[in-house]
Amino acid sequence: MSSVTLDHVHKRFGTAKGVEDVHIHIESGEFFTFLGPSGCGKTTTLRMIAGFYYPTEGSIRFGSQEVTAVPPHKRNTGMVFQNYALFPHMTVFENIAFGLQVRRVAKGEAKERVERIMDLVRLTGYGERRIDQLSGGQQQRVALARALVIEPQILLLDEPLSNLDAKLREETRFEIKRLQLELGITTIYVTHDQSEAMSMSDRIMVMQGGEVQQVGTPHEIYHFPVNRFVASFIGETNLWNGTIVGVEGDEVKVRTASGQVLTGLRQNASPKARIAAGESVLMSIRPESIQESLVTEGENVVTGSVEMAEFTGACVNYVTRVGEESLRSMSINLGRPIKQRGETIRLQIPKESIYFTE
Ligand code: ATP
Repeated sequence: MSSVTLDHVHKRFGTAKGVEDVHIHIESGEFFTFLGPSGCGKTTTLRMIAGFYYPTEGSIRFGSQEVTAVPPHKRNTGMVFQNYALFPHMTVFENIAFGLQVRRVAKGEAKERVERIMDLVRLTGYGERRIDQLSGGQQQRVALARALVIEPQILLLDEPLSNLDAKLREETRFEIKRLQLELGITTIYVTHDQSEAMSMSDRIMVMQGGEVQQVGTPHEIYHFPVNRFVASFIGETNLWNGTIVGVEGDEVKVRTASGQVLTGLRQNASPKARIAAGESVLMSIRPESIQESLVTEGENVVTGSVEMAEFTGACVNYVTRVGEESLRSMSINLGRPIKQRGETIRLQIPKESIYFTE
């Protein structure tokens, strides 16, 4: 297995920007995800790692080996594409064995390796089937087996679940994670689906417009988003603007546009947020941290009018108008009566749950 380093990598297509200044180190054995909306540069970055594109600037290393200008077939990476790119006229066995044939692995050994990998991806017994006789989920597993059978140093997956229906997608993501843990293989995964990224990855790189926004664990990205884009792209959040009216010890008091004064904690701030009296800040508050308050007054208790109530069984979700702002909350159902549209509601915003971003 190998680590992967991208050292200030840029890719331009003529004058058009592809990706700009990607500078990351992916550890050996890590499950690392490129996440972002369409056109943000995920696939371009992955293709440079595979060798299908060469960087305009910067360099790429696998471990200590420089690979920036090495062609794809000499990189020892296994890749699964969005459309799988399987050979429809060949059997499952032939598809998986293809990479071994190209590498001139002896027949007996190839057969053994293909059978072992078919077992690993739970395709035993399907060797003689043609690709067009398989379900989408089975085709996906053939694509994975074909990438893994060559025993790559690095596994590259480009939106590998996008052709599957929702249920199968969920099952398959656990399968991929299981395989990755079992093999301990360095894996780079491209997706625009934040829940996929959150549930599978050791670390995530969030991209937008060809630029890296944040790199961190799912926990860091979710709880400490560095800016508005990351905060709203990952999960749901409330974004409130405000002005700092005082900083006392750890506590930061912020007046919102509608005149509410909320208290947050100084340590819950992105490095770029300026925490000082008079500064403008953006607060990110996750809906699930806000609970209905049983007291009418107190620190961070806000009063508003219910705009929308949604009962999902386990949860009660409200959208509440608080002055000029709207606040989404998501509370565990404790059996209390559900407030209706237009009713007054009091909500408690724990001060630990306010994150100052930019
Ligand atoms: P998607 O999820 O839609 O595949 P992505 O995040 O993978 O999007 P990329 O395919 O990496 O995005 O594209 C990044 C930018 O580079 C886009 O603006 C795209 O138009 C541009 N781009 C990508 N490949 C080429 C190319 N071969 N020629 C010109 N521009 C390109």
